[in-house]
Amino acid sequence: MNYKMPDRLKLANLPTPIEKLKPHHNQNIYVKRDDYTGIELSGNKVRKLEYLLYDAKEKAADVLITTGAYQSNHARATVAAALKVGMKAHLVLTGDVEPKFTGNLLLDQKFGAEFTFISSEESKNVEQIMQDIADDYTKKSLKAYIIPMGASNALGNFGYLNAFNEILQQEKELGIKFDVISCTVGSGGTYSGLLLGNHLSKTNKKIIGINVSQTSQYFVERVSQISNESLSILGIDENINKQDIKIIDGFVGRGYGLSTAEELDFIDKILKSEGVYFDPVYTGKAIRGLYKSIEAEKLDINSNSNILFIHTGGFFKLFAE
Ligand SMILES: *Cc1c(COP(=O)(O)O)cnc(C)c1O
Repeated sequence: MNYKMPDRLKLANLPTPIEKLKPHHNQNIYVKRDDYTGIELSGNKVRKLEYLLYDAKEKAADVLITTGAYQSNHARATVAAALKVGMKAHLVLTGDVEPKFTGNLLLDQKFGAEFTFISSEESKNVEQIMQDIADDYTKKSLKAYIIPMGASNALGNFGYLNAFNEILQQEKELGIKFDVISCTVGSGGTYSGLLLGNHLSKTNKKIIGINVSQTSQYFVERVSQISNESLSILGIDENINKQDIKIIDGFVGRGYGLSTAEELDFIDKILKSEGVYFDPVYTGKAIRGLYKSIEAEKLDINSNSNILFIHTGGFFKLFAE
């Protein structure tokens, strides 16, 4: 289908490479290294920020306001991206203990971000808190632009629609067709973008997400809502079929950001066998869920299928454990 993508800034180091891992349970496993999108900008969020920051620039924003956990990869990427385009960043970060300036939060601090720390109780009103901060900037004659958690909104979705189209190009170059594209689902924008790509190009791949927070039901609603909004930005009068949204539940474990010994053991084993670091909050949980689902033959695919897992980043968590 023909459509015109919204404009974006070029911030990420693209295209990111695709590597082959060892086969698993008679399936071919590939990883798209979106942890290579940059160093300071590393991970999936920069692809979404390319679209949101274009919009922020158009609106002559001076400061970006966003939110996440203390160790938010999204918050760190937002600050780095803000600096690249001459803006400031104000982070509203959630946690119930004293923040430790390690990992992502150390980078945020070194980049000179402004911080507002809130408790998880207060975070229920995070939208209002961000709006109040924006109003304070307005009083100082500064224009604020609010980016939602994970940059997962209708405009942010174009980051992974763009990535999907990049994958189609790489399939030609590599002479491979991917039957499955799989990713972590944290706030839903990565998954939504891939789903939109598959919908618009009618490639009939299975897009399989593994949620690391909430429930799959929650994300089916969220993903269909923001994907449909993206379709309307494109002027396409269609809706995503909820049946196509395949999000595997059951791998959240002890909860968002919490790990079990088994999960950490899996991450350690795959690091030692493949030389690739998957983080415990997102990619480690998700690829473990993918491998377990392959073993249990739950994906409804033939053996020898080509499965592409998107490595969405999380490297700095290693330095905050
Ligand atoms: C944010 C994040 C995700 C989740 O992506 P969403 O688009 O928010 O669902 C996955 N992996 C890492 C490393 C992340 O930082």
